[in-house]
Order: sequence, then C-alpha cells, then structure tokens
Amino acid sequence: LKIKKSEYVLSAVKPDQYPEANVPEIALAGRSNVGKSSLINTLINRRSLARTSSQPGKTQTINFYKINDAWYFVDLPGYGFARVSHDAREEWGRMINTYLEQRTVLKEIWQLVDLRHPPSEQDQQMMQWLNYKNYPCIVVATKADKISKNQRSKNVKVIKETLGVTEEEIVIFSAQTGEGKEKLLQRIEQLL
Ligand code: GDP
Repeated sequence: LKIKKSEYVLSAVKPDQYPEANVPEIALAGRSNVGKSSLINTLINRRSLARTSSQPGKTQTINFYKINDAWYFVDLPGYGFARVSHDAREEWGRMINTYLEQRTVLKEIWQLVDLRHPPSEQDQQMMQWLNYKNYPCIVVATKADKISKNQRSKNVKVIKETLGVTEEEIVIFSAQTGEGKEKLLQRIEQLL
C-alpha cells in the first residue's frame, strides 16, 4: 500500500459531527501515550500530522484522518489517566461505545499496548469488550525499540495470555525504527 495523500479532517465527540460514512475506517484504541499518534504519523510518513502526546485532562475527541482520499484512520480518545474524573471516564466510555456501535464502515480496531509492560486493567477491559461485541481487532504492541529481544518474547507471551490473542493477532511495532510498518500497511491493503 502506498500512502500518497493524508489529511486531518475533523475531530468529533458525537455522531452528527462524524464525516459521512462512505469509505472504510480503521480505528486505533489504547491508553493515552501508548503511541497512537506516532503510529499514524509513521504509517503515513508525516512527522506530525497526528497530534502527539495529548494532555491529560484535555477534552478528548475522536480524530479522523483521511488517507489517499479512500479511507480513514480514526484515532479514538485514549484512556488511562488516573487524574480524570469519574464523569470524564463515563463520557469517554460513551463516546467510544457510540462510535463503535454506529460506525458501519469500521473495518478493524487496532488495540495498541505498550510492549514494555503487561497489559493494564483497562487494556484488558477494552479487549474483553471488543471480543464480547465481536468487533474485528488486532493488537499492536508499540515501542518495540525500547526493550531487548529477550524481554520482547517474554512480553509477547504475557500479552497473548492476558489479552487472549494468538501470535497472528499481534503486530510488533516501533515508530522509532519502523519495525512492523510494512506488515500494517499490507494489512490495510487487505482490509480495504
Ligand atoms: P498517543 O497519546 O497514544 O497518541 O501517544 P504518542 O504517539 O503521542 O506517543 C507518546 C510518547 O511516546 C511520545 O513521546 C512518543 O515520541 C513516544 N513514542 C511513541 N511511539 C514510540 C516508539 O515506537 N518508540 C519510542 N522510543 N517512543 C515512542
């Protein structure tokens, strides 16, 4: 898959703000700081189209990036900031839930987890919920450049066990080295 064009289209908090559902979408989920923006930027060869390091507590939105005029990358609001209030957390849940339930053009969800750490409680809840709802999804394990090869295989095993996914459902990725990039681009090509 060659990315020839990419543009930020809009940010939404509710369905009437979403772009028209006329092309396929791939959505990225994961805790804040896991590397969602970096993954988008790496795949589309842009330094900073997707905003990196969103501030804790800042209004969270669903961000739509249109690629090759043919499909959307959808950056879902990150979870996992201890400081956000109960209300903010509920709002987050509703926002994601609504998007996932309504979006008929959604092809696949990529659940990002940090390869350096065991999946968090929220990572596990998110995955359980995606499975329960039967949404097609894979796990992308990010920041692979930050650990040794030895630690990597141990951590992959933990991810497989705690999230209940197979080897084929995990892509190891690094925005730093580009590892996993080709694999993800091929995957998109198959999905579209
Ligand atoms: P987001 O909140 O999920 O969009 O996360 P960001 O993409 O903003 O990344 C959070 C931080 O992790 C930033 O400082 C990134 O530079 C860093 N980061 C993201 N991906 C990688 C990676 O693959 N390798 C390394 N070394 N750092 C990364």
